[in-house]
Amino acid sequence: MTFNDFNFNEGLAEGVRSMGYKTPTAIQQQAIPVIMQGKDVIACAQTGTGKTASYLLPVLNNIHHTDQTQISTLILGPTRELVQQIDQQVEGLAYFAGISSLAVFGGGDGIAYEQQRKGILNKVDILIATPGRLISFLTSGALKLDHLQYFVLDEADRMLDMGFYSDIMKIITYLPKKRQTLLFSATMPPKIRTLARSILHEPEQINIAISQPAQGILQQIYKVHDEQKTPLIATLLKSGQFASSIIFASTKEKVKALTKDLKAAGLNVDAFHSDIEQREREEILLHFKNRQLPVIIGTDALSRGIDVEGIDLVINYDVPGDPEDYIHRIGRTARAATTGTAITLVNERDQRRLANIQQLIDKQIEEVSLPPELGEAPKFKPHSNTRNKGRRPTGQNRNKGKKPNRPKPSGTK
Ligand code: AMP
Repeated sequence: MTFNDFNFNEGLAEGVRSMGYKTPTAIQQQAIPVIMQGKDVIACAQTGTGKTASYLLPVLNNIHHTDQTQISTLILGPTRELVQQIDQQVEGLAYFAGISSLAVFGGGDGIAYEQQRKGILNKVDILIATPGRLISFLTSGALKLDHLQYFVLDEADRMLDMGFYSDIMKIITYLPKKRQTLLFSATMPPKIRTLARSILHEPEQINIAISQPAQGILQQIYKVHDEQKTPLIATLLKSGQFASSIIFASTKEKVKALTKDLKAAGLNVDAFHSDIEQREREEILLHFKNRQLPVIIGTDALSRGIDVEGIDLVINYDVPGDPEDYIHRIGRTARAATTGTAITLVNERDQRRLANIQQLIDKQIEEVSLPPELGEAPKFKPHSNTRNKGRRPTGQNRNKGKKPNRPKPSGTK
C-alpha cells in the first residue's frame, strides 16, 4: 500500500511527500479509509506508530474540500508538548494545502494568553488545545465552536489520568451534536470505553498491537548497584556509539542529581522537568532536536508525545513502576520504522517491576554484563512474580495509587 491509494488532494499529497513519508504505517492503513468515510473511530495506538498522521491526513483531506471560514476541527491533547507537536505535524502536512492551525495551552504568561486569544479571532481551520485553556476561552465567550465538524481526542487515557474527565465532558457541551469524533488512546481501560460510549456515535474500533514496543528497538538491561548507575551511563554516553540520547528517571530529584553528576563528568547534558520554565523547556527541546544537545534527562513528562526523530538511545535510570510507561519511554527511540537501543538499569528493588514489564511485553529482555572497570554486578536472589499472575496486560491496574511523576495538567483551573 502507498499513500497514492488514499487519493488525497494534490496539496496534501505534496505535504506527505515533503514530510518524507513513503509507506503508510499500520494504524494509518486502517484508520485513514474509515475516517475518510466519515465514521467515528476509537483507536488504540501508541505514540511512535504514526497515529497523529492517521487522523490528521483524512481530516486535512476533507477540510480542503469544505473551504471553511470557521474552526472546523478541534484536537484535544493532555500536555502543551503534545499539542505543540501535533501543531508542527499539521504545519508540515498542510503546508501546501493552505490549511491553518493554532495551538493553545496553559502555562505561560498573560501575553501568551492574549496571543492565543487573538489567534482564535483570526479564524483558523484547526485548533489544537489542552482542555483547561480551551475551557477558559469557551467560557469567556472568546471562542465559539458551533461549526465544528471534527473532534479528536488524542492520548485520551493520559487526559483521564490527569483528571480531565469533567473538562472533556464540559467541552462536549459546546460542540455541535452532529460531528465526527475520533478518540485515540494508548491503552483501553474501562473508563476510556465509558467515555467512548458517551461521546462517540457507532464508532469503528481500530486496534494496533497494543502495548508492544516497536520491532526496531534493541532492548537490554544491566543489573547494577545504585552507585554503579551514573558511571555506567557516563561510560555508555562516552562510547561515541550514540548521537542522540534520552535518559529517564522516576523523580525530578533524580533527574537533577544525575544531570549534575554527568555535567561534572564532562558530558553535554540538560534536564527537562516541570520545575523548569516553559520557555526554557522549549529551548532545551529545540537544542535537542537540532542536535546541539546530544543528551536530555527527564521524568516521564518526556516520555509521551515528545516527537524527535533520530534518537538512538533511551536509558532508563530506574525501572518505571507502570509497565506501560516503559513502553512509552522506550518508544522515544526507533520511531516509525528506524532502529534504536533501550537500556534499563535494574537494581535489586526494581526486579519485580522488571518482571512485570517482561510479562507485559511477553519477552525476556537481554541482560548485558557490566564493563569490568565498574566493579562486580550484584547477584539478585531468584525472583518469583506470583503477585501478578493473571494480571491483564493492558493496564487495567494503572491507576492504583497516585503516580508521582505525571506532568502537571496545563491550564487546569
Ligand atoms: P506519532 O506516532 O504520531 O507520534 O508519529 C511518530 C513519528 O513518525 C512522527 O515523527 C511522524 O512524523 C512519523 N511518521 C508518521 N507517519 C509516518 C510514515 N508513514 N512514514 C514515516 N514516518 C512517519
